[in-house]
Amino acid sequence: MEINLPEKGQVYHDHQSWNAVSKYIDNQVDAKIFVLVDKNTATHCLPYFLKKYEGEKKIHTITIAVGEIHKNITTCLNVWNTLSNSGADRNSIIINLGGGVVTDLGGFVASTFKRGLRFINIPTTLLAMVDASVGGKNGVDLGHLKNQIGVITQPEMVILDTNFLQTLPKVHITSGLAEMLKHGLIYSEDYWERLKKITIDNKREFDELLIESVEIKNKIVTEDPFEKNLRKTLNYGHTLGHAIESYLLKNKNKQPLLHGEAVAIGLILATYISAESIGFPKEKLDDVATTILAYFPKVDFTTNDIDEVIKLLVFDKKNSNGEVRFVLLENIGHPRTNCTVSNKLIFNAFNYYKNF
Ligand code: NAD
Ligand code: ZN
Repeated sequence: MEINLPEKGQVYHDHQSWNAVSKYIDNQVDAKIFVLVDKNTATHCLPYFLKKYEGEKKIHTITIAVGEIHKNITTCLNVWNTLSNSGADRNSIIINLGGGVVTDLGGFVASTFKRGLRFINIPTTLLAMVDASVGGKNGVDLGHLKNQIGVITQPEMVILDTNFLQTLPKVHITSGLAEMLKHGLIYSEDYWERLKKITIDNKREFDELLIESVEIKNKIVTEDPFEKNLRKTLNYGHTLGHAIESYLLKNKNKQPLLHGEAVAIGLILATYISAESIGFPKEKLDDVATTILAYFPKVDFTTNDIDEVIKLLVFDKKNSNGEVRFVLLENIGHPRTNCTVSNKLIFNAFNYYKNF
């Protein structure tokens, strides 16, 4: 099955994927092809990609350093320079082979170099498969503020191959799972119920749920590519999740969290707030927290931590007129956007999480 992306390309996830990408590349007669990897995907994913690529073209590799800390404009500058020195022109194509850092940064670099090169996403982490590689949001961080610089441009195509997950450390599998759980909560109780019973080691079952997650994300972004309303629901758990992620990242004496780990906490907090303010069924709240905490270790927040996280919310890009806007749930599969929430309620949500 193929999933349509808005305007361009498709998500390929069956046996035709590699054939499709090879054909696409080889049809671009004068195009130079660049593959962007980080040091890990250079080791674990590039050899597989080169084996699967059935075409004739020379592939130029550009490698960046590993990690969110390098998702910044300095890394972009290095990649832009490498492209320039390698004779990249407007016909060139960039293939982003990596996790969300590579697809976010690579999409941004491609979209801005010579006013826009085409790019293809080949996500290699679960998070990038179910979330970052689809939807066209590209960009980099500004200091410790996440995704402050970026553009919305769609990839030519997205290639999903779950074989890449075999070398992915377990923590990154759970990190991606947070976004799948989010898709269930905002979109479909049926999907949420099936996710609750997931066995990560059952590849067939897991792959099916993974593809369904991409379909949910894709449906939402196709209907609302520029985030007028529906797409905002994908930010469920992210208002507080991002603030927690940024806060822990900028504090040298704190253990940083992966994106999905921070989002997992954000999901519990947002569900508590939903139950306290817009009638999310209280009996389902504990079930949501139990399901999420089965995968994610509890993080200890002091009162000062909570105060600082609340301060950071001001920087969240979803704020309007200085007011923090939350996506909340009336029920599973029934989100409501643009909800205002008092600091007191956020504080109580952290207490619920701490005491659970
Ligand atoms: P990541 O790209 O840093 O990858 C996680 C780690 O896994 C890295 O160390 C990477 O080198 C390694 N890795 C990648 N593939 C591997 C493989 N197959 N085998 C072994 N190691 C592998 O991070 P991520 O979790 O994939 O993505 C996080 C980023 O995605 C964040 O910057 C977040 O803001 C962004 N994001 C973007 C969107 C969007 O819509 N654009 C959505 C969600 C998240
Ligand atoms: Zn996310």
